[in-house]
Amino acid sequence: METLSDQGIKKFLENSPLYSWKTFAQPEKMRTSLWIREIDEFCETCNQIRPFQDLRSLGGITSHHPMGKIQFLQSGTSYFTFTCVSCKTENHTFLVEQEVTEETVKIQKYGQRPRKKLERDGKLQKFFKEDAEYYEKALISLSNGYGIAAFAYFRRIVELNIVKLLDLLASDLDPSQANDPIKIAIDELRKESPMSDKIKIANNALPEYLKPDGLNPLGTIYSLLSEGVHSLTDEECLVKAESLQACLSFLIAELASRKRHKDSFKKMVGGLKGS
Ligand SMILES: [Zn+2]
Repeated sequence: METLSDQGIKKFLENSPLYSWKTFAQPEKMRTSLWIREIDEFCETCNQIRPFQDLRSLGGITSHHPMGKIQFLQSGTSYFTFTCVSCKTENHTFLVEQEVTEETVKIQKYGQRPRKKLERDGKLQKFFKEDAEYYEKALISLSNGYGIAAFAYFRRIVELNIVKLLDLLASDLDPSQANDPIKIAIDELRKESPMSDKIKIANNALPEYLKPDGLNPLGTIYSLLSEGVHSLTDEECLVKAESLQACLSFLIAELASRKRHKDSFKKMVGGLKGS
């Protein structure tokens, strides 16, 4: 379990959907409040991600005993208000409920203003354009913390587009290398075979540059496809839906940028040849 820290609260405020709970372990030095100085959010006025700061003084937030003793964080609610450091006009506010025990601090957002925008990944949106409705529903489910639904929608989208993804991967390979083991692996993935075989094959079906730190996004996609939701909780499915989205987004973005570079290189060298 993650220990409660400023960084953990920051990530929670920035990313957690409304009404989903997150449990942290109590830090060694217990906190007097959930107050943190700064978060990073998209500013509607500056039109970019900016730091937002809580300009209230900590003294006004920490609760004191009538006897003057400092009180540690207790179960109840917390209010956060952050102002964009650049334009100083945009305010982002959050309402958080906390349940505190000696060992844990469990928190949920029960209010957020302005409403969090759905973050559509332009490249994924384009790639899935025929399944735009599923993608939209997957995003809505993600932003509400409906993990089981989000995972199911993402899996459906991947099932419908896996061949297209394999085509995209194959198009990045050198066509003159007929015996390229990666090409053979990709062809193997198109065939009907049990999912357990596919996971093994997928782990060999990517060139090194598509495996950041040895992590194989295609292998991860296949193993996520093989997993049913069965007894998984919303929280567990949310993590799986997010990693499915991250793997797809990485592969599609990398392949698109390689294609762009290759095309502009060919155009340039082709132009030189012609002159
Ligand atoms: Zn701003």
